[in-house]
Amino acid sequence: MDKIQQLAEIIKASDNIVFFGGAGVSTESGIPDFRSADGLYSQKYAYPPEQIVSHTFFKYHTEEFFAFYREKMVYPKAKPSAAHIALARLERQGKLKAVITQNIDGLHQAAGSVNVLELHGSVHRNFCMKCGKAFGLESITGVAGVPRCDCGGIIKPDVVLYEESLDGDIIDAAVNAISQADTLIIGGTSLSVYPAAGFINFFRGRHLVIINASPTPADGKAELVINGKIGEVLASSVPLDQVS
Ligand code: NAD
Repeated sequence: MDKIQQLAEIIKASDNIVFFGGAGVSTESGIPDFRSADGLYSQKYAYPPEQIVSHTFFKYHTEEFFAFYREKMVYPKAKPSAAHIALARLERQGKLKAVITQNIDGLHQAAGSVNVLELHGSVHRNFCMKCGKAFGLESITGVAGVPRCDCGGIIKPDVVLYEESLDGDIIDAAVNAISQADTLIIGGTSLSVYPAAGFINFFRGRHLVIINASPTPADGKAELVINGKIGEVLASSVPLDQVS
């Protein structure tokens, strides 16, 4: 049996699947990841990207932060890939209980996924740091320089920067979903950003599957490792909706 068929069989036999993903889920939507050869970390900037997307940099170099953020972290025209679409389908079919993502692009929801746990926040939510007023993405992309609220406060994207902590309720929901799953599919992530990557250790179920273009530190624990493009893999292993 080939690996795609093996994954299709695992999906068929499971009824509590959780998907845990990262930037590789959105590369087929045209959003570069961080660690691939053509990813953000391979490009040259005045400061390393890890430093730019940190809380300290945001605080002391706010204008440069927003210049980088608009150019490299926000993709308003990106559309869901075959991977996002297949995962939304699997949730509609009642088999997938949660998508846990490290991504901030909102593409799972755009594809129709409902139970999406965004560990690192979303570019689509933005808040005034002074009065707390909520703003959409255009409050950041539609202006130049540092975006400001009517009250004068800086509008900050609701994304988790380095040195910032993750939302406790989202951590609880993610750990809960993983610990109850019978199948965990991990995809498009180098599993190198913590604490997010550590959450997979709460999995106690039967089938651990990894779909990633390159090796990950969890490969040795998995029942099935597929080194391929996640959109192609999921599109061919998730069943199509039944037409009634
Ligand atoms: P990463 O860049 O560290 O790793 C991405 C992994 O995906 C790599 O191992 C790569 O081999 C694999 N990959 C790339 N394209 C693939 C494809 N088509 N099919 C299968 N595998 C593919 O990403 P990460 O582990 O998510 O960690 C990076 C951090 O950066 C995360 O915290 C995330 O929030 C953030 N980030 C988000 C976005 C986004 O929202 N789309 C984009 C870049 C980075």
